[in-house]
Amino acid sequence: MNRDPGRIRANGLGDLFSGRFGILLIALVGIFIYWQANQKEVPFAPGKKQLNTMSIEQEVKLGAESYLQILQGEHQQGNTVLCADEASCTGSARDLTETVREIGARLEKAALELEEEYRTAGYDMPGVVEKFDWTYYVVDSATPNAFCLPGGYVAVYTGILDITGNYDGNVSLDDISDVDKLAVVMGHEIGHALAHHGAARMSTQQVLQVGQMAVAVGLGDMGVAQQQMVMQAFGVAAQGGFLAFSRDHETQADKIGLDLLVRACYDPREAPELWERMGEIGKGERPPEWMSTHPASETRAENFRKWMPDAIAEYESRCGPLR
Ligand SMILES: [Zn+2]
Repeated sequence: MNRDPGRIRANGLGDLFSGRFGILLIALVGIFIYWQANQKEVPFAPGKKQLNTMSIEQEVKLGAESYLQILQGEHQQGNTVLCADEASCTGSARDLTETVREIGARLEKAALELEEEYRTAGYDMPGVVEKFDWTYYVVDSATPNAFCLPGGYVAVYTGILDITGNYDGNVSLDDISDVDKLAVVMGHEIGHALAHHGAARMSTQQVLQVGQMAVAVGLGDMGVAQQQMVMQAFGVAAQGGFLAFSRDHETQADKIGLDLLVRACYDPREAPELWERMGEIGKGERPPEWMSTHPASETRAENFRKWMPDAIAEYESRCGPLR
């Protein structure tokens, strides 16, 4: 774009708003307004806002579809979804599934209480917990994984039980005899869903795509090399934004998870310990995929140090003294 100052002086600023550059400018302003208009409070993370254009109903529908897809995919790869049919739901399959469902039920109840606490404190809480379609399954797979999709669809992979349990390299039923660390993982994952992080991610991606299109149109009269440079810069900026965005989400999920943990009477001190373990595993040759989006960092440990006194006080006021 060769606009020397002389030309601008001669033609006035009107020149700047004509042609493709004008389209780009109008599109970007439009995107900015859309972005601002759709900023919503993050449930369970008071004071935080995020772009969210999805309703809870949409989240539940989308979550249900992806959940079925993922579980079917696991089944096709030979990873059994435990208790998927009642007939085979016996022995350790039943024990594992029931344990996960019990932890889930306690965390749900805690989330309901927390919603009520926020309402009492004057926050506008839309009531997420009762609108979710809480569902829990255990996938028999060596992959250390766990997730909660939008809408409350939870899956725990047996591969994560060793990390949350005895951490001896072997998954056994012993690994669920002490459930606090598994509750930490589930609380964190449920925290993501309660805060609508999936919906925020999708909403943001949509806006980024529109932005990318606008930039592409606006670049029409540039040279190819210049175009590539600008697109690359846009990509890098978008990626950087996204990284900061997901780190923010991790911190929020950690805090929500901890809030749920103490209200469900699980030992809050297990949380930093669990993430430390996760961090050690992440340092290995080939970190599990799950780790790449759940970075263990100094910031994380620091956050827990900061939150712990309140968490312990909350726990003890509800559940008795911590040993
Ligand atoms: Zn996370």
